[in-house]
Amino acid sequence: RGSHGVQSFEMLEDPSFWKDHNVQVIIRVRPLNSTEVSLQGNNRCVRQDSCQSITWTGHPESRFTFDLVADEYVSQEKLFKVAGVPMVDNCVSGYNSCMFAYGQTGSGKTHTMLGDIEGGTRRHSVNCGMTPRVFEYLFSKIQKEKEARREEKLQFTCKCSFLEIYNEQILDLLDPSSVNLQIREDLKKGVYVENLTEFEVTSARDVLQQLLEGAANRKVASTNMNRASSRSHSVFTCVIESKWESQGITHHRFSRLNLVDLAGSERQKSSGAEGERLKEATNINKSLSTLGLVIMNLVGISNKKALHVPYRDSKLTFLLQVYIFVELGLPWGNSKTIIIANISPSNCCAFETLSTLKFAQRAKFIRNNAIVNEEASGDVLTMRLQIQQLKKEVSRLR
Ligand code: ADP
Ligand code: MG
Repeated sequence: RGSHGVQSFEMLEDPSFWKDHNVQVIIRVRPLNSTEVSLQGNNRCVRQDSCQSITWTGHPESRFTFDLVADEYVSQEKLFKVAGVPMVDNCVSGYNSCMFAYGQTGSGKTHTMLGDIEGGTRRHSVNCGMTPRVFEYLFSKIQKEKEARREEKLQFTCKCSFLEIYNEQILDLLDPSSVNLQIREDLKKGVYVENLTEFEVTSARDVLQQLLEGAANRKVASTNMNRASSRSHSVFTCVIESKWESQGITHHRFSRLNLVDLAGSERQKSSGAEGERLKEATNINKSLSTLGLVIMNLVGISNKKALHVPYRDSKLTFLLQVYIFVELGLPWGNSKTIIIANISPSNCCAFETLSTLKFAQRAKFIRNNAIVNEEASGDVLTMRLQIQQLKKEVSRLR
């Protein structure tokens, strides 16, 4: 059995583990599949050293350290407990959160983010992935908080949207007739997608419904346009707003939870492509290559070299700038971000696996600068009364 350090793995459920301000990076190694076994037998390109360290065994051997290295024996439930639970806890406390799944096609991104959702929620399936588990936990947490803070009249509103970026175009997965949506910037709203469908959700079942619909639309879109879904990025977003009263003042908190299933990170072959096809081939991974460049240059910045960070160059990086960019002043970097880099352990994938490990290592240097998004607004009358009260007290002290 390759599961090293199971005991220290338990330790990772300690919430202080996530206090680090940098982007959290997790490597997830999937089991070998039958094609790989038939081609390369059990020959592996990686060796796990501990639950935080992994060695690429090619030439030259390279060792990498991450927040967590999850081997093939780490279940969906376990991964959720370690990474999903603290993410939801943060989000309910008002922090933006963003989880990316990175890796070559077939490495397990969709298995990690969605998994088997046909069978319903986790009570029904061990393969049910991160997103459905996150929402099941989110709504149970909301319920508990509401009960515990009934006196403050605590209320929550959750709104979801689901989009896909393909060939630098944004498609609304909850309304597939809506294509080529535009990203806008607004002082108050921040960066947003114009005319994107938003559904209010009040239960994990509502979310599952949207996920299934979106996943089905994604399939249809990819068939109609004759392309592989591995070339598109999907972004599922939930905006969580809470409101409560204390001492006559109404408090508002809002946060965003983004769950991103990235396009396959493998190098695109554009051989034989001409005209439109060639343009498509170069565009396909523009978002991904820009993400790589942005991360590389951000790391440059944290080493005090001023490099151009080309976040405007692709839809993905432009849309998610708040969640990836840091140290450039607020609101950039206002997020707790987790990257799950998925790899195959087979020798067949040695070079793509190395490239993913290197990407993940660079991403680890990015610092987050998350703050609680909160506003307090009381009705003017109560505030005036409070001011009068304070004035009285001040004059009494004099
Ligand atoms: P990607 O989305 O990165 O292209 P998938 O998530 O579709 O890859 O995974 C490819 C195949 O490998 C699927 O059949 C999936 O069920 C299987 N798989 C991926 N990761 C795991 C894992 N950790 N455990 C078991 N099976 C996995
Ligand atoms: Mg996939």
